Amino acid sequence: MEHVLVTGGAGFIGSHFVKRILRAEDVEAVTVLDALTYAGHIENLGTAFLSEKLTFVQGNVLDAQLVDELVQRHTAVVHFAAESHVDRSFFAAGAFLATNVHGTHTLLDAAMRHGVEKFVHVSTDEVYGPLLTGTATEDAPLRPSVPYAASKAASDLVALSYHQTYGLPVCVTRSSNNYGPYQHPEKIIPLFLTRLQRGEPVTLHGRGEHVRNWLHVEDNCAGVEAVLRGGVPGEVYNLGGGTDLTSRELTDYLLRVCGASEEAVTYIPDRAANDLRYSIDWTKASAELGYRPERGLEDGLAETAEWYRRNPDRWAPLVRNPQAAQPPRAVPAEPRALPATPAGW
Ligand code: NAD
Repeated sequence: MEHVLVTGGAGFIGSHFVKRILRAEDVEAVTVLDALTYAGHIENLGTAFLSEKLTFVQGNVLDAQLVDELVQRHTAVVHFAAESHVDRSFFAAGAFLATNVHGTHTLLDAAMRHGVEKFVHVSTDEVYGPLLTGTATEDAPLRPSVPYAASKAASDLVALSYHQTYGLPVCVTRSSNNYGPYQHPEKIIPLFLTRLQRGEPVTLHGRGEHVRNWLHVEDNCAGVEAVLRGGVPGEVYNLGGGTDLTSRELTDYLLRVCGASEEAVTYIPDRAANDLRYSIDWTKASAELGYRPERGLEDGLAETAEWYRRNPDRWAPLVRNPQAAQPPRAVPAEPRALPATPAGW
């Protein structure tokens, strides 16, 4: 566990995780590999740079040579880097397949060559697809319905196949929707908070009946660390336990924390693909790893709203700068030599 490579560490969840793992005494060095796409911001790491343990490398998980050089110097990999916004995947699915599937494969190959001790692949409850009733345990079928979720499901399966095929000590985490400071304002909670704080309207799809489980980002990071330390190789761990809310109920909370009125809410027709309800069972992580989400929604949203209120310099350029709204471009994978055939094959 001494040397940890964190991909996507300049993004929303990754930057929280880096700050957390830097505090661990048994971690000697943390390297962040991040391409700094429209979604990544070195400022998200902020005070993490005060730690001498941290090294930042700007680079792409599809760059096989760079990935190989970095992985060989680390004992563990925690893989957050991804194209992560569902709506963007509707018009730029290629970039999602490139980073989420091929990028994960590039890391797994390097991890296999260099015998890393733990590889945590960070995934999402969206891979289970919509559930009208009940909750998904880790062995539920994968039925992703949008390109983002399909790319994550594919990467989960590739990651798990590296455990089955090569014995690579891979674990997969699947969390519900995260919220908290530092999230890109394209995502619903910061989008609504920053609009309401500017006195602008917010729009709900359909009748606002879509259900999501909202988990504070620090709870997810605690779960990812628990899996990094104690997860059984080859296993998947659901990380949920926040609060289930319809988008209408979530909006009511956000109106309250921003002191805004119902007049700010408008409704638009639902988009063609919009999963009605996700729900995961996180008993396994709780029973086996002692995972316990601690942050209450009301406090968490109030803290998040306060962060956006105090830090307009962090989100205003992303909202007003047309460059920030560009769809991601697919990055072609570098041609790579096949790894040497393992001895005895
Ligand atoms: P994010 O979009 O905020 O951050 C992604 C980071 O990855 C950015 O810093 C970006 O620059 C980097 N990145 C993108 N493509 C890259 C590439 N080709 N090479 C190197 N770096 C690259 O995403 P997030 O919300 O922090 O999500 C992190 C992970 O957690 C993702 O794998 C996502 O699928 C998963 N996840 C997110 C949520 C959520 O609610 N946000 C929920 C469940 C799972």
